[in-house]
Amino acid sequence: DTPFAGQVIVTGAARGIGRAIAELYAERGHQVLSVDLNLPPTLKGQRRLKADISTAAGRNRIVRAAHELGQVTVLVNNAAYQNAHGSVLNVSERGWARTLNVNLTAPLLLTRALVPLMPHGSAVVNVASVQGLLAEQNNAAYNASKGGLVNLTRAMALDLAPHGLRVNAVAPGAISTEAVLEAIASSENPDQTRQDYEDLHALRRLGTPREVAQTVYFLGSAEASFLTGTIIPVDGGMTASFMMAGRPV
Ligand code: NAD
Repeated sequence: DTPFAGQVIVTGAARGIGRAIAELYAERGHQVLSVDLNLPPTLKGQRRLKADISTAAGRNRIVRAAHELGQVTVLVNNAAYQNAHGSVLNVSERGWARTLNVNLTAPLLLTRALVPLMPHGSAVVNVASVQGLLAEQNNAAYNASKGGLVNLTRAMALDLAPHGLRVNAVAPGAISTEAVLEAIASSENPDQTRQDYEDLHALRRLGTPREVAQTVYFLGSAEASFLTGTIIPVDGGMTASFMMAGRPV
Protein backbone atom coordinates (compact mmCIF):
# COMPACT_ATOMS: atom_id res chain seq x y z
CA ASP A 1 0.00 0.00 0.00
CA THR A 2 2.97 2.31 -0.51
CA PRO A 3 2.68 4.86 -3.32
CA PHE A 4 6.21 4.10 -4.50
CA ALA A 5 9.00 1.64 -3.90
CA GLY A 6 12.72 2.10 -3.68
CA GLN A 7 15.34 3.82 -1.71
CA VAL A 8 14.85 6.99 0.32
CA ILE A 9 17.87 9.02 1.42
CA VAL A 10 17.46 11.46 4.31
CA THR A 11 20.35 13.71 5.35
CA GLY A 12 20.63 15.01 8.90
CA ALA A 13 18.59 12.04 10.15
CA ALA A 14 20.19 11.60 13.59
CA ARG A 15 17.72 13.89 15.31
CA GLY A 16 15.02 16.51 14.93
CA ILE A 17 13.06 16.85 11.72
CA GLY A 18 15.36 14.53 9.73
CA ARG A 19 14.89 11.75 12.23
CA ALA A 20 11.09 12.17 12.08
CA ILE A 21 11.24 12.00 8.26
CA ALA A 22 13.34 8.81 8.33
CA GLU A 23 10.97 7.29 10.91
CA LEU A 24 7.88 8.05 8.83
CA TYR A 25 9.37 6.47 5.68
CA ALA A 26 10.55 3.42 7.65
CA GLU A 27 7.13 3.08 9.30
CA ARG A 28 5.46 3.11 5.89
CA GLY A 29 7.67 0.30 4.62
CA HIS A 30 10.34 2.14 2.66
CA GLN A 31 14.03 1.36 2.60
CA VAL A 32 15.74 4.36 4.18
CA LEU A 33 19.37 5.39 4.11
CA SER A 34 19.82 7.75 7.05
CA VAL A 35 22.85 10.00 6.76
CA ASP A 36 24.32 12.23 9.43
CA LEU A 37 27.57 13.48 10.98
CA ASN A 38 26.49 11.46 14.01
CA LEU A 39 25.20 7.91 13.69
CA PRO A 40 21.39 7.99 13.38
CA PRO A 41 19.30 5.71 15.62
CA THR A 42 18.51 2.18 14.41
CA LEU A 43 15.13 1.81 12.75
CA LYS A 44 13.53 -1.16 11.03
CA GLY A 45 14.16 -0.97 7.27
CA GLN A 46 16.79 1.69 7.73
CA ARG A 47 20.49 1.76 7.00
CA ARG A 48 22.68 4.27 8.76
CA LEU A 49 25.67 6.08 7.39
CA LYS A 50 28.03 8.51 9.05
CA ALA A 51 28.97 11.09 6.43
CA ASP A 52 29.57 14.82 6.10
CA ILE A 53 27.54 16.14 3.16
CA SER A 54 29.79 19.18 2.91
CA THR A 55 32.86 17.16 1.86
CA ALA A 56 33.49 15.32 -1.41
CA ALA A 57 34.55 12.26 0.61
CA GLY A 58 31.27 12.29 2.55
CA ARG A 59 29.17 12.65 -0.59
CA ASN A 60 31.12 9.83 -2.29
CA ARG A 61 30.33 7.53 0.62
CA ILE A 62 26.63 8.36 0.27
CA VAL A 63 26.72 7.65 -3.47
CA ARG A 64 28.52 4.33 -2.86
CA ALA A 65 25.95 3.30 -0.24
CA ALA A 66 23.13 4.31 -2.60
CA HIS A 67 24.68 2.19 -5.40
CA GLU A 68 24.71 -0.87 -3.14
CA LEU A 69 21.00 -0.45 -2.57
CA GLY A 70 20.05 0.24 -6.17
CA GLN A 71 17.81 3.11 -7.16
CA VAL A 72 17.09 6.27 -5.20
CA THR A 73 13.42 7.22 -5.38
CA VAL A 74 13.37 10.13 -2.93
CA LEU A 75 16.21 12.34 -1.74
CA VAL A 76 15.48 14.56 1.25
CA ASN A 77 18.06 17.32 1.70
CA ASN A 78 17.43 18.09 5.37
CA ALA A 79 20.82 18.47 7.11
CA ALA A 80 21.73 22.02 8.01
CA TYR A 81 24.16 24.09 10.05
CA GLN A 82 22.19 26.52 12.20
CA ASN A 83 24.80 27.91 14.59
CA ALA A 84 26.46 30.80 12.77
CA HIS A 85 24.38 33.50 14.43
CA GLY A 86 25.33 37.09 13.75
CA SER A 87 24.17 40.14 11.89
CA VAL A 88 25.20 41.45 8.49
CA LEU A 89 27.75 43.57 10.37
CA ASN A 90 29.33 40.89 12.50
CA VAL A 91 28.72 37.36 11.18
CA SER A 92 32.11 35.63 10.96
CA GLU A 93 33.44 34.72 7.52
CA ARG A 94 34.01 31.21 8.77
CA GLY A 95 30.43 30.82 10.03
CA TRP A 96 29.10 32.31 6.81
CA ALA A 97 31.14 29.89 4.68
CA ARG A 98 30.17 26.83 6.71
CA THR A 99 26.47 27.77 6.65
CA LEU A 100 26.46 28.27 2.89
CA ASN A 101 28.48 25.08 2.35
CA VAL A 102 26.24 22.79 4.38
CA ASN A 103 22.85 24.39 3.69
CA LEU A 104 23.17 25.37 0.03
CA THR A 105 26.24 24.01 -1.78
CA ALA A 106 26.03 20.47 -0.34
CA PRO A 107 22.39 19.95 -1.43
CA LEU A 108 23.38 21.02 -4.97
CA LEU A 109 26.41 18.71 -5.13
CA LEU A 110 24.74 15.75 -3.42
CA THR A 111 21.65 16.00 -5.61
CA ARG A 112 23.60 16.03 -8.85
CA ALA A 113 25.75 13.14 -7.68
CA LEU A 114 22.60 11.08 -7.06
CA VAL A 115 20.59 12.06 -10.16
CA PRO A 116 22.08 9.18 -12.21
CA LEU A 117 20.60 6.77 -9.63
CA MET A 118 17.13 8.36 -9.67
CA PRO A 119 14.63 6.85 -12.13
CA HIS A 120 11.90 8.90 -13.85
CA GLY A 121 9.16 9.73 -11.35
CA SER A 122 11.59 10.20 -8.46
CA ALA A 123 11.60 13.30 -6.27
CA VAL A 124 13.89 15.59 -4.35
CA VAL A 125 12.54 17.39 -1.28
CA ASN A 126 14.58 20.21 0.22
CA VAL A 127 14.03 21.31 3.81
CA ALA A 128 14.23 25.11 3.67
CA SER A 129 12.72 27.40 6.33
CA VAL A 130 10.39 30.35 6.80
CA GLN A 131 13.74 32.10 7.12
CA GLY A 132 14.26 31.41 3.42
CA LEU A 133 11.11 33.43 2.71
CA LEU A 134 11.52 36.22 5.28
CA ALA A 135 14.55 37.28 7.32
CA GLU A 136 15.28 37.20 11.04
CA GLN A 137 17.50 39.79 12.70
CA ASN A 138 21.00 38.62 13.62
CA ASN A 139 20.87 35.51 11.47
CA ALA A 140 22.27 36.72 8.15
CA ALA A 141 24.08 33.53 7.11
CA TYR A 142 21.16 31.21 7.81
CA ASN A 143 18.68 33.59 6.13
CA ALA A 144 20.89 33.75 3.03
CA SER A 145 21.45 29.99 2.92
CA LYS A 146 17.74 29.16 3.14
CA GLY A 147 16.77 31.92 0.71
CA GLY A 148 19.32 30.39 -1.65
CA LEU A 149 17.89 26.92 -1.10
CA VAL A 150 14.39 28.18 -1.91
CA ASN A 151 15.46 29.46 -5.32
CA LEU A 152 17.83 26.52 -5.87
CA THR A 153 14.71 24.36 -5.45
CA ARG A 154 13.10 26.19 -8.37
CA ALA A 155 16.30 25.94 -10.46
CA MET A 156 16.49 22.21 -9.71
CA ALA A 157 12.83 21.78 -10.66
CA LEU A 158 13.48 23.35 -14.07
CA ASP A 159 16.80 21.65 -14.78
CA LEU A 160 15.79 18.18 -13.56
CA ALA A 161 12.31 18.08 -15.13
CA PRO A 162 13.81 16.72 -18.39
CA HIS A 163 15.17 13.83 -16.28
CA GLY A 164 11.67 13.06 -15.02
CA LEU A 165 12.41 14.35 -11.51
CA ARG A 166 10.28 16.65 -9.37
CA VAL A 167 11.87 19.01 -6.84
CA ASN A 168 10.00 20.81 -4.08
CA ALA A 169 10.73 22.28 -0.66
CA VAL A 170 9.09 22.71 2.71
CA ALA A 171 9.57 25.88 4.73
CA PRO A 172 8.96 24.98 8.38
CA GLY A 173 8.07 27.49 11.08
CA ALA A 174 9.34 26.90 14.63
CA ILE A 175 9.30 23.15 15.23
CA SER A 176 9.60 21.39 18.59
CA THR A 177 12.97 19.78 17.83
CA GLU A 178 15.71 19.14 20.36
CA ALA A 179 17.51 22.27 19.11
CA VAL A 180 14.49 24.56 19.55
CA LEU A 181 13.51 23.05 22.91
CA GLU A 182 17.11 23.44 24.15
CA ALA A 183 17.15 27.07 23.02
CA ILE A 184 13.89 27.70 24.89
CA ALA A 185 15.10 25.91 28.03
CA SER A 186 18.42 27.77 28.15
CA SER A 187 16.84 31.22 27.66
CA GLU A 188 16.45 33.70 30.53
CA ASN A 189 12.71 33.17 30.84
CA PRO A 190 11.78 29.82 29.25
CA ASP A 191 8.00 30.22 29.73
CA GLN A 192 8.02 33.61 28.04
CA THR A 193 10.35 32.43 25.29
CA ARG A 194 8.11 29.46 24.52
CA GLN A 195 5.08 31.75 24.44
CA ASP A 196 6.92 34.11 22.08
CA TYR A 197 7.77 31.22 19.74
CA GLU A 198 4.19 29.94 19.85
CA ASP A 199 2.77 33.40 19.14
CA LEU A 200 4.71 33.60 15.87
CA HIS A 201 2.17 31.15 14.46
CA ALA A 202 -1.54 31.73 13.79
CA LEU A 203 -2.14 28.33 15.36
CA ARG A 204 -0.37 29.57 18.54
CA ARG A 205 1.82 26.53 19.01
CA LEU A 206 5.05 25.02 17.76
CA GLY A 207 4.88 22.53 14.92
CA THR A 208 6.02 18.95 15.48
CA PRO A 209 8.79 17.18 13.53
CA ARG A 210 6.14 14.67 12.47
CA GLU A 211 4.03 17.41 10.87
CA VAL A 212 6.97 18.48 8.72
CA ALA A 213 7.70 14.82 7.87
CA GLN A 214 4.11 14.30 6.66
CA THR A 215 4.42 17.16 4.16
CA VAL A 216 7.83 15.93 3.00
CA TYR A 217 6.34 12.46 2.51
CA PHE A 218 3.50 13.89 0.43
CA LEU A 219 5.88 15.89 -1.76
CA GLY A 220 8.02 12.80 -2.37
CA SER A 221 5.06 10.62 -3.26
CA ALA A 222 3.01 10.09 -6.42
CA GLU A 223 0.18 12.00 -4.70
CA ALA A 224 2.20 15.13 -5.57
CA SER A 225 2.82 14.10 -9.19
CA PHE A 226 2.02 17.57 -10.66
CA LEU A 227 3.97 19.55 -8.07
CA THR A 228 7.43 20.75 -8.89
CA GLY A 229 9.28 23.95 -7.98
CA THR A 230 6.89 24.71 -5.12
CA ILE A 231 7.75 25.83 -1.62
CA ILE A 232 5.21 24.74 0.98
CA PRO A 233 5.31 26.63 4.28
CA VAL A 234 4.66 24.19 7.15
CA ASP A 235 4.34 27.06 9.55
CA GLY A 236 0.97 27.12 11.31
CA GLY A 237 0.12 30.34 9.47
CA MET A 238 3.28 32.26 10.42
CA THR A 239 3.86 33.65 6.92
CA ALA A 240 0.14 34.31 6.41
CA SER A 241 0.56 37.36 8.64
CA PHE A 242 2.62 40.53 8.38
CA MET A 243 2.30 41.14 12.12
CA MET A 244 5.19 40.44 14.46
CA ALA A 245 5.44 37.97 17.34
CA GLY A 246 3.17 38.60 20.31
CA ARG A 247 0.64 40.65 18.35
CA PRO A 248 -2.67 39.35 17.07
CA VAL A 249 -2.31 37.49 13.79
P1 NAD B 1 19.15 19.77 13.96
O1 NAD B 1 20.24 20.75 14.01
O2 NAD B 1 18.49 19.33 15.22
O3 NAD B 1 19.57 18.49 13.17
C1 NAD B 1 20.28 18.59 11.97
C2 NAD B 1 21.03 17.30 11.77
O4 NAD B 1 21.85 17.48 10.62
C3 NAD B 1 21.95 16.98 12.95
O5 NAD B 1 21.75 15.64 13.37
C4 NAD B 1 23.34 17.20 12.38
O6 NAD B 1 24.32 16.32 12.91
C5 NAD B 1 23.11 16.95 10.89
N1 NAD B 1 24.12 17.63 10.08
C6 NAD B 1 24.55 18.91 10.21
N2 NAD B 1 25.53 19.16 9.33
C7 NAD B 1 25.73 18.01 8.64
C8 NAD B 1 26.63 17.63 7.61
N3 NAD B 1 27.54 18.49 7.14
N4 NAD B 1 26.56 16.38 7.12
C9 NAD B 1 25.67 15.49 7.61
N5 NAD B 1 24.79 15.79 8.59
C10 NAD B 1 24.83 17.03 9.10
O7 NAD B 1 18.09 20.41 12.92
P2 NAD B 1 16.50 20.43 12.92
O8 NAD B 1 16.08 21.53 13.82
O9 NAD B 1 15.91 19.09 13.02
O10 NAD B 1 16.30 20.97 11.42
C11 NAD B 1 16.31 20.11 10.31
C12 NAD B 1 16.12 20.96 9.07
O11 NAD B 1 14.95 21.75 9.21
C13 NAD B 1 17.25 21.93 8.81
O12 NAD B 1 17.42 22.07 7.42
C14 NAD B 1 16.75 23.22 9.41
O13 NAD B 1 17.35 24.34 8.84
C15 NAD B 1 15.28 23.12 9.06
N6 NAD B 1 14.40 23.90 9.90
C16 NAD B 1 14.27 23.65 11.23
C17 NAD B 1 13.38 24.40 12.00
C18 NAD B 1 13.17 24.13 13.47
O14 NAD B 1 12.34 24.82 14.07
N7 NAD B 1 13.84 23.19 14.08
C19 NAD B 1 12.63 25.41 11.40
C20 NAD B 1 12.79 25.65 10.03
C21 NAD B 1 13.67 24.88 9.30
